[in-house]
Amino acid sequence: HSSRAHFPLMPLYERSIFTHLFADPTGTNDPSFTGSFPADEPAYVDAATGTTLDRAQVKKLALELGWALTKAESIAGKKAPRLRRGDVVLVFSPNSLAYPVVLLSAIAAGLCCSLANSAYTASELAHQYTDSEPKTIITTAECFGIVREMFDKVLGLEWEEWKTKVIIIPDSLEWAGGTPSSRLSAPRDIESLLKMEEMLGIDAMVQEEKFDGSLAHETAFMCYSSGTTGKPKGVETTHQNATALMDMAFHLAPLMPGIDSSLAILPFYHIYAVVFNVLFSMYRDVKCVIMPRFDPVQFCANVEKYRISLSLLVPPVLVVLARHSAVDQYDLSSLKWLYSGAAPLGASLQAQVKQRLLSKRKPGSILHVIQGYGLTETTSSSHLMPLDKDKPGSVGVLLPNLHARLIDPEHDGDDDQAKDVGPGQPGEIWVKGPSVMKGYLKNPAATKSSMTADGYFKTGDIAIRDEDGYYFIVDRKKELIKYKGFQVAPAELESILLTHPEVADAAVIGVEDVAEATELPRAYVVHADPSKISSSESRTAFAKAVAEWMQSKVAKHKYLRGGVIVIDAIPKSASGKILRKDLRELAKNESSMV
Ligand code: AMP
Repeated sequence: HSSRAHFPLMPLYERSIFTHLFADPTGTNDPSFTGSFPADEPAYVDAATGTTLDRAQVKKLALELGWALTKAESIAGKKAPRLRRGDVVLVFSPNSLAYPVVLLSAIAAGLCCSLANSAYTASELAHQYTDSEPKTIITTAECFGIVREMFDKVLGLEWEEWKTKVIIIPDSLEWAGGTPSSRLSAPRDIESLLKMEEMLGIDAMVQEEKFDGSLAHETAFMCYSSGTTGKPKGVETTHQNATALMDMAFHLAPLMPGIDSSLAILPFYHIYAVVFNVLFSMYRDVKCVIMPRFDPVQFCANVEKYRISLSLLVPPVLVVLARHSAVDQYDLSSLKWLYSGAAPLGASLQAQVKQRLLSKRKPGSILHVIQGYGLTETTSSSHLMPLDKDKPGSVGVLLPNLHARLIDPEHDGDDDQAKDVGPGQPGEIWVKGPSVMKGYLKNPAATKSSMTADGYFKTGDIAIRDEDGYYFIVDRKKELIKYKGFQVAPAELESILLTHPEVADAAVIGVEDVAEATELPRAYVVHADPSKISSSESRTAFAKAVAEWMQSKVAKHKYLRGGVIVIDAIPKSASGKILRKDLRELAKNESSMV
């Protein structure tokens, strides 16, 4: 019943990501040996300043920092963290030139990276901190205020108890010799913390931790995903998951001649960016130009300045490229490949972007605007459009080495009884193979319910496969909402809403915003005392107050942009489950009230 793509199996390796990137057959750990590509090739560039690290510098810095994290006794008169293989470090930082160095150093030292959204509030960070139990938090001066708030206010710890757990990495400006961020926290506190700069340049014998053979199945990254249901969970991505994904994806979409630079705007705490920006750049020698966040004008200016050939994007960014005036003001003719993922990209938007960019070029100029599909749980892409193919609206074909099944969406019981649907019929995608996560951290129940006994991961996404093996994502069976590619877990927002003193019950669903190519989180709430909201003005005021209150609780991408609707009762099944389908039906007939 399962289908595999038509490609030959790729040979895969069981070794650490670090070994894979720098492929040192001698195992000598010579930092000047940088794998298949020359040592002085630019690897990462800070877009704003042009500051560049070449491959040899990246490797050297990663090994030095890795040594300082694990082996040093003390650093600059401060206590060294002395981490051990398998210990967790939590990285809480916006994109910067330092970020890839931090990730690669943790990998080189055999540590596991728990990657947190840099826009998190203190309580959101506390959830990930408590769940992944890091020994160390690596953060920036800019984000330090939130870290402090988490320790002080949310976890109630004394400064003396946590100060040795925090390492400050330079903000991108500082790293490049510029001025530090104006959001700097009180210097008194930050001064006594360990700094990444102080940990570099230590002349010590640096050894990379090995993960050969079965050790390759140890966890390297934990990005957070709510999966099919519930709150965000740590997705255990192994060394093997990541190296396999790189080889499988490269086989399907080998780099065309002239694809030598990528512009990185995706947040590096998401697995999509970890694999395709941070790791893939080193693996295939694609210079990665780093922006701290997406900005339409800066994006276009940087494409022109760095003659960018490739960029990995999300659909709302393609909306900008289809409409924004900056596209006409800069030379974007170097772009050969735009890759969209993380949310559905409609065929018409895909065509608009292609037409607009090509209309300014010579006839015959190459531009691929293609789509992939995948999840944090599948180490990013499981499906990708081959570069030489184009099926508008399709996410492409299954990567080599993966198996997929499409299961009757009504199926809701014993996995053994699941029925496969045929070509042209919608079914839930189940995926199996070397890039499927090890499991959810410390959550065997969630892992078990998302995997079949024979190793298929149940994605919760509904797709159609055509006769040629191309997939089209048509619906989502799970609760998850995606705002501009970011995950929003309804269960998380619902539990926060229930802490509001006037909210008796709540349910959150996603409503579509076609113009912006995204979903928006919308809450349905029941007032604890309906007599207080008998007039339509009082209902509107209550809805507005709830939406505003939520903004003090969560990161921006979780704001209730789809509105708050006051309702008499949340529709529920006999067993008390929220009937989200009914709410989606309701939503079709409503407009936002906020
Ligand atoms: P994440 O784990 O944050 O990458 O989110 C994974 C989810 O994003 C998937 O389960 C899908 O619901 C959605 N997704 C990713 N790529 C696509 C795509 N190309 N089309 C539609 N949905 C997508």
